[in-house]
Amino acid sequence: MSLVSGPGRAGGSLSRPDLCTLKHVAYIQKLDTRKDELEYWLTEHLRLNGVYWGLTALHLLGHPDALPRQETIDFVLSCQHDNGGFGAAPGHDPHMLYTVSAVQVLVMIDAAHELEKGSRGGKEKVGSFIANLQDRETGAFMGDEWGETDTRFLYGALNALSLLGLLDLVDVPKAVAYVQSCENLDGAYGVRPGAESHSGQVFTCVAALAIAGRLDLVNKDRLGAWLCERQVDQGGLNGRPEKVEDACYSWWVGSSLAMIDRLHWIDGNKLAAFILKCQDPEAGGFADRPGNMVDVYHTHFAIAGLSLLKYAGLQEVDPI
Ligand SMILES: [Zn+2]
Repeated sequence: MSLVSGPGRAGGSLSRPDLCTLKHVAYIQKLDTRKDELEYWLTEHLRLNGVYWGLTALHLLGHPDALPRQETIDFVLSCQHDNGGFGAAPGHDPHMLYTVSAVQVLVMIDAAHELEKGSRGGKEKVGSFIANLQDRETGAFMGDEWGETDTRFLYGALNALSLLGLLDLVDVPKAVAYVQSCENLDGAYGVRPGAESHSGQVFTCVAALAIAGRLDLVNKDRLGAWLCERQVDQGGLNGRPEKVEDACYSWWVGSSLAMIDRLHWIDGNKLAAFILKCQDPEAGGFADRPGNMVDVYHTHFAIAGLSLLKYAGLQEVDPI
C-alpha cells in the first residue's frame, strides 16, 4: 500500500501514456452522429444512460459544451412518459435507471426547470414515479412496475430525489435499514440480503448511505480492507475476488474508498497507469482492459477514476 500522491502531477518520472483529452472529446462527440451504424441501434436500450456517461466525461475533461445543449434537452424530454418516468429512448418503457440518468443530465446542464414546462407535471411528477417504486414494507426499490429489487435502484432513487430536492417523498430510514441488511461479514455489500459481495453493489450501498447522511453505519476498516484487496498486480481493480481487473472498477471501488476516507489504501499511481493503458490513443475512448474495444461506459468510468485520483487537467469529481 502507498499513498495516493496526485498522479499526473508527479512530474513525469513515471513511464506511462498521457491522457489524450481532445481524442476523447472527439470520440464522445462522434457517438452522437453515427446513426447510420449498426452499433448505434444495438445500444438503443442504453441511449439515455449513454448520454449521461458521455456528458459527464466531457464535463470532467473540461469540455462541458461539446454536445449541443438544446438537442440534449430535447432528447431527454422525448424519453419521458405521462407517469413522470423516463425510458432509454423514445417509446421505450419507463425505468428507474433511465429516470436517474435523465435527472442527472438535466441537473448537470442546469436544465431541471425544463420539467416544469407545458403539461409535464414538474419535478414532483418525476419524484412520484420514483417514490412509487419503493416497497414501503422493506424499504427496497424496484426498477419498474415488474417488481425486481436491487440496491442499484435504491441508490438511483436517493440520488435522483436528492438532486431534485425531493428526498422527503420516500421512507429514507427504511431504505437505510434495507441497505444495512445487504451488508456481509466481510464488510462489503451484495445486491440483496445474503447475496455475494460485489464492488458495484458496494458503491450503490455506500453512496446511498452517504446521501442519507448515515456513513456512520459502514464498517469502514473492514470494508476498506476488502476494497483495497481488489487491486491486482497490474494496478487495476476487480469487482470481486479471483476476477480480472477492469477500468470501470476504478470508479466503483475507488469512489467507495473515497467516501469512507480510505482511497489512500490503494496505489493510486499504479491504478492511474493501468487506466491510461486502457485508452485508444488514436481514435479516443477507453476500454475495460488494454487493447480491447472502447465504449462510452468505460470511457466515462475510466475518466471518473482518474478524476477521483486528482489527475492533472481533469475536473475533480464528487464521489457521491
Ligand atoms: Zn467494466
